[in-house]
Amino acid sequence: MIENQINADIAIIGGGASGICSAISAKMTDKNLKIVVLEKLKRVGTKILSTGNGRCNLGNKNISEKFFHGSIKNLMEIISSIDTEDFFNSVGLLCRTDSEGRIYPYSNRASSVLDALRISLKNLDISEICGFDLKSIKKSKNKFILESGDMKVCAKKVIVASGGYSSPSLGTDGAVTEIIKNLGHKVTDVYPSLTSFNYKNSNEYKILAGIRVRGCVTAESGRKILESETGEIQFTSDSLSGICIFNLSHLVSKHRNIRIKIDVMPEKSFQEILDFLFYLKKIRRECNLEDYLTGIFAKNLGIYIIKKSIMKPLSVKVLELSSNEIKSIAGLIKSLYIEIVPSEKWNTSQVTSGGIHGESVSNDLESLILKGMYFSGEILDVDAICGGYNLMWAWSSGLWAGKKCAESFK
Ligand SMILES: Cc1cc2nc3c(=O)[nH]c(=O)nc-3n(C[C@H](O)[C@H](O)[C@H](O)COP(=O)(O)OP(=O)(O)OC[C@H]3O[C@@H](n4cnc5c(N)ncnc54)[C@H](O)[C@@H]3O)c2cc1C
Repeated sequence: MIENQINADIAIIGGGASGICSAISAKMTDKNLKIVVLEKLKRVGTKILSTGNGRCNLGNKNISEKFFHGSIKNLMEIISSIDTEDFFNSVGLLCRTDSEGRIYPYSNRASSVLDALRISLKNLDISEICGFDLKSIKKSKNKFILESGDMKVCAKKVIVASGGYSSPSLGTDGAVTEIIKNLGHKVTDVYPSLTSFNYKNSNEYKILAGIRVRGCVTAESGRKILESETGEIQFTSDSLSGICIFNLSHLVSKHRNIRIKIDVMPEKSFQEILDFLFYLKKIRRECNLEDYLTGIFAKNLGIYIIKKSIMKPLSVKVLELSSNEIKSIAGLIKSLYIEIVPSEKWNTSQVTSGGIHGESVSNDLESLILKGMYFSGEILDVDAICGGYNLMWAWSSGLWAGKKCAESFK
């Protein structure tokens, strides 16, 4: 039985990055509106505290359309509608930018970001109702009726900012997306993104567990080259990880049977590597093959490359290597192929690739199915590479949807 009923002009479902921003901008647009943020967890903004390893990479100075994926037509218009640093300065948060353009709070603490946003919510007299786990949305006449277990909220308009499916322990399990889908909205297939790739055959790569190497990673599907990224690659016992791998993980939503090619010496040409390997043959003639590549790579990576590229036991002497075998080793250094399967784990992915399709929303981020319902953040079909871009989408789409929603009362 429903015990409590609350009335509001705008109810915001989800008190995460985009929900908080939508509340702030709606109230700044029209101070007379009664706005309530409905959050499932015990407090708003829990996920913000975990971002950027506790430092919150809240944005990036380098913006390009190619860093974002999704079907929202005016995505770049929305992203460019705010200057992230200016917005945070306006709520009292100082920022710093690193050499690669990534923006962090000056304090280097994600908690400062949340504190500044919560102070704004309080100053603007925006109510937070925590422990409100939305179970259903109904529209009757000009009102939305939102129900959790024992509470009912009636609102003239709603902004749905409940995030995606990634990191369910931080409140986001996709249940609201399913409700929105059942209301008639088009929702794309969803996949975990900014996540690792699992090895198809993990036994083969156990020897590499714990190794980190700077390399160029290329994702291929059949004969097609999809995308390349250069950066640190981390081999774990069952997966390939690292920021450059995370940035390729969105490809899983569009391509099956992806395989990964790693160039583990991207700064050197095939010929330069070959010359050095011939030189090594001269100076390590009496060594076992096991030590042939020691000094170039971590020992186990060297051993793996030799075992994979030639058929000789590691106890054989380096002087027995033929020219063709040395060429095979150099070839493998430039093209180490790894068969992978996409990770299906939501709990280890940072964002959701896919969501409410652009065909179901207007440029104002209002539903084309239910007038008066707006969306912001990760629930929409938008995701981005690492570097602060996902939060940029959350802040900017929240501010955008909040403003448009408040303006619609005039
Ligand atoms: C570990 C980790 C690190 C990250 N680091 C970065 C980073 O440094 N930089 C970056 O740009 N991005 C980062 N991201 C991604 C970024 O956090 C998200 O893209 C962003 O938080 C999405 O904002 P949102 O408001 O749309 O959703 P969320 O922040 O996920 O907020 C949604 C809110 O809705 C609430 N909710 C869900 N269901 C219900 C319900 N039924 N009823 C009521 N409330 C509900 C949730 O509890 C949650 O508080 C990281 C993500 C993770 C998981």
